[in-house]
Amino acid sequence: MERKENERRVCLLVIILILTSVMFISCTGSSDDEEKKAVKDVFAMDTYMTFTAYGENAQCAVDMASDRIEELDAMLSAGSSKSEISLLNTNACAKLSDDTLEIIEKAIEVNKNTDGAFNPLIYPVMKCWGFDTGDYRIPLQNELNECLTHMDIDKIIVDKERKSVRFADPDMQIDLGGIAKGYASDQIMEIYRKNGVKSGIVSLGGNVQAIGSRPDGSSWKVAIRCPDGSSEYAGVLEVNDEAVVTSGGYERYFEQNGNTYHHIIEPHTGRPSDSGLASVTIVAKKGIVADALSTAIYIMGYEKAVKLWKEQKLSFEMFLIKDDGSQCITEGLAGAYKSDTDYSIIE
Ligand code: AMP
Ligand code: MG
Repeated sequence: MERKENERRVCLLVIILILTSVMFISCTGSSDDEEKKAVKDVFAMDTYMTFTAYGENAQCAVDMASDRIEELDAMLSAGSSKSEISLLNTNACAKLSDDTLEIIEKAIEVNKNTDGAFNPLIYPVMKCWGFDTGDYRIPLQNELNECLTHMDIDKIIVDKERKSVRFADPDMQIDLGGIAKGYASDQIMEIYRKNGVKSGIVSLGGNVQAIGSRPDGSSWKVAIRCPDGSSEYAGVLEVNDEAVVTSGGYERYFEQNGNTYHHIIEPHTGRPSDSGLASVTIVAKKGIVADALSTAIYIMGYEKAVKLWKEQKLSFEMFLIKDDGSQCITEGLAGAYKSDTDYSIIE
């Protein structure tokens, strides 16, 4: 009851924040920055996206951002037969764009840093569960076991000179769904920068990335959803010049026989991960790192997540909500997080 009450309060806070920003806009409607605000909504990469930019070339920046997203979507989607990823999956070998190569290399690096929790070779398993088409089913463990034998990351052979990738095992198939949006938001930041945008933000489903701060110099406020499926918020993170990416099983799942099966897969069992974490939010300078890590840490669970954070081989901060609803945040974010719910600080 008390938690519900707290959540309601946070929800109110978010509404007030939104109203405040609306008020800010109406108060400063005549300022130059405000006149040069551009917003664009697109549906791509299976999600609704919003691009917002301020400055002289704001409109050009969001138009270019939306073109770039469409280009990346066409290259990276495992489900579209003409994409580079599809060609690679079908032929076990393909010449690739610099974009796709860079994402695959980062995916391999994150795999190595997360004890294999992040594994881009998850596509055959995703297909077994019907996550590729939406025709969901519960596969037999035998089927999953067969898929698991085709997930050896060392069998992805990257030839940087020839700009190609080859699979040493032809039954392997790649799925960049856990990392591609992070790369995409990095690319949008690059476009913003080239257009002189010093204040801007993008929201790609669960991925948010900001350049600079808001036009009035205050921080961007990113509300973190409660993982219970409600439209309420757990709290609000204040960020500048950073990516904020959240992963949670509640984002995509199906129900059968009273059980819930979600889309983030433990790569050693082939089954939806059940690590004790209900939601993982990563804050990092690079969207690609935040995206891959949010997926990986959701699978790794609390203890391994804290170990990884302490090692700081990959630089990031995190906000975790456990299955029991308790919240914790790494110390680097402590001052930036506002919530009415109690939370502990990881030091
Ligand atoms: P996200 O929403 O960023 O956490 O990514 C979830 C998506 O990542 C899924 O829909 C799959 O496409 C992909 N995925 C699922 N499990 C894994 C895994 N263990 N490693 C890498 N990608 C995964
Ligand atoms: Mg991810």
